[in-house]
Amino acid sequence: MAEKIRALTKKQLETLKNKLMEEKNSLVFNDQASTTNLELAIPEGSDEVEQSITDYTNSHLLRFRNREVFYAKKIEKALKKFDKDEFGLCSDCGDWIRFERLLARPTAELCIQCKEESERDESSSFTGRQSKSLGKVVDLTGMMA
Ligand SMILES: [Zn+2]
Repeated sequence: MAEKIRALTKKQLETLKNKLMEEKNSLVFNDQASTTNLELAIPEGSDEVEQSITDYTNSHLLRFRNREVFYAKKIEKALKKFDKDEFGLCSDCGDWIRFERLLARPTAELCIQCKEESERDESSSFTGRQSKSLGKVVDLTGMMA
């Protein structure tokens, strides 16, 4: 993998920009759909069990929407890079990100090498977070030990 990564061509950049636009449009559509579901999911005169299921569903939908909002922001950020001619450049080392990688993940900000490094960092901090928020998982580990 020591081969030099070439700059993206105009055509490749165009392809990626279109892809981002498509993703953005599909998110707006999904956002409307989940808002509609959210309203439909509130029943009138439901008993407690139904109510708790509704709460659960709604909090699920909200979490899903938050993720969409987060992703929409990433898309916006990526689209802005086109204006500054920074799209496709790794925000860490400044090298070009491979076209294939961007095609699969147009919001990628890091080249594969930097991404792998940051994932190694993330996975170690995730283990720390997990033991706090997911108490059950920790209990299970304790039982098996
Ligand atoms: Zn990099």
